[in-house]
Amino acid sequence: MKILNEGHREKAVCPACHDIRDVVYRYRPYITEDGDTIPEVLQGFCEGCGERLLIPPQSIPKIKPYYQRLSKTQEYKVPSVIDDILLNIGASIKMEKPETFKSVLRFYLERTSRWNRIDATSPHKLGPASTRLSFRVDEPTDALLRHTTRKLAINKNQFVTLMFWDAKDRLLKNTPEAEAFRTGTKFLHVPDTATIGKINASRC
Ligand SMILES: [Zn+2]
Repeated sequence: MKILNEGHREKAVCPACHDIRDVVYRYRPYITEDGDTIPEVLQGFCEGCGERLLIPPQSIPKIKPYYQRLSKTQEYKVPSVIDDILLNIGASIKMEKPETFKSVLRFYLERTSRWNRIDATSPHKLGPASTRLSFRVDEPTDALLRHTTRKLAINKNQFVTLMFWDAKDRLLKNTPEAEAFRTGTKFLHVPDTATIGKINASRC
């Protein structure tokens, strides 16, 4: 792992600016969904709008204990071909199955344009949901998944199935999106606090 210091710069796509922007790394407090403050966490901020875009790998040990506390084991029932796709994506990025699963899930959930193209209208004939996937998923990601499946009017098993069926054509081939995914897996993408706040509020 390359250790970065404050002031390090790189470019990234900013969802708020809808454009490629300079990202500048700074040590700032990290505020969790519960309002706890973790001091001095190196984070990458958009130079255009100030939005936090990236958390570099070196910051993960500082904030991971918080997210692990919030993790719950989740089960997904999928057709066996989905398990094959998951294993092959993992092999292509050299990651273990649970990390691959979470990376693909976050990759799809972080942009509306990604999960929105999942074809949830026609029933899919991928076979019976005979394989059980069981992973620990952090609460913010699970909340985002529940929110997204409600919008698509499908259940989480169907979402995971359709997501990986879509991913086989995008992440297992040499596409710009596969490149973005490989780059993205190096970072911990924490769902936006404000968004989660709104999701929780709308559920009440
Ligand atoms: Zn921005």
